[in-house]
Amino acid sequence: MSHVPLKEGLHPRNRFRNGYDFDALIRCSPALAPFVAPNRHGNASIDYADPDAVKALNQALLADAYQLDAWDLPPGALCPPIPGRSDHLHHLADLIAGESGSAVPRGPAVSVLDIGTGANCIYPLVGAREYGWSFVGTEVDPAAHAWATGLVAAHPAVADRIECRRQASAVQCFEGVVRPEERFDLSMCNPPFYASAAEAAEGNRRKRRNLGGGKSSKAARNFGGRDGELWCPGGEPAFVQRMITQSAERPEQCRWFTTLVSKGAHLSRLSRALREAKAAEVRILELAHGQKQSRILAWSFTAAGA
Ligand code: SAH
Repeated sequence: MSHVPLKEGLHPRNRFRNGYDFDALIRCSPALAPFVAPNRHGNASIDYADPDAVKALNQALLADAYQLDAWDLPPGALCPPIPGRSDHLHHLADLIAGESGSAVPRGPAVSVLDIGTGANCIYPLVGAREYGWSFVGTEVDPAAHAWATGLVAAHPAVADRIECRRQASAVQCFEGVVRPEERFDLSMCNPPFYASAAEAAEGNRRKRRNLGGGKSSKAARNFGGRDGELWCPGGEPAFVQRMITQSAERPEQCRWFTTLVSKGAHLSRLSRALREAKAAEVRILELAHGQKQSRILAWSFTAAGA
């Protein structure tokens, strides 16, 4: 019962494409064992509505695939699905590979700015292991910033490639955390999604119902997420709109500016904002994980051919 096909649509380089080998994961991370049981199809699985189980799975996946064996989260923090987060990095690798011929750029000379790295620091940790890239991760929440800094220190294999910087203002993406002369190949972001704490709580209730975990109090925050992680004034479109405006004020800071956009309905407004900002190139990279559709919006003021 150990090999379970995962979701369709993952990137060809995604290590989790062929599903999870729970036997191997438990060998690597025995703390996962109590959470694994056959699901109604008879396949090994965990209860995805139980945040402790999801965290144990994440710890096992990170240890097994990336030798990140000290990853942990503060209680209530956002627990990121690892296959989806690594998929995001693979698509960005293709974006910058497109420029340099076809080989995927690897190594510390590739520099990435991760805006809102979270307590989980997931993109820098996985990106540094997967591709050897260097990261600056920014974070506005002081506790999340401190946690992310601790995670980096706990992983010596990547500690010299990742720097966590504290952003003092929730409405700034670059100002205050990057120096004007710094240059990045990429910026990336998984923006706060909701427009208010109430909306975040409702979204969380909906997700819990969909997972069938409504009766479990443990499931109250199934994938976790403390308020600041989940919402910002104006929600995702306002956050990305600010990012676009601020990127236009520093067009050379990043060769590609990118962000996740979780709602397709926001794209037309954002594309208009990019035209107004005079972005020279705009790309939309589609991500499909099971039934969940998402996309990366990427723009450049300086990319080749622009
Ligand atoms: N990158 C992580 C966390 C995403 S949640 C992941 O993918 O799981 C979004 C994060 O952005 C939160 O931790 C929130 O505190 C942070 N954040 C919100 N506004 C920010 C800003 N202006 N600059 C930096 N971080 C910000």
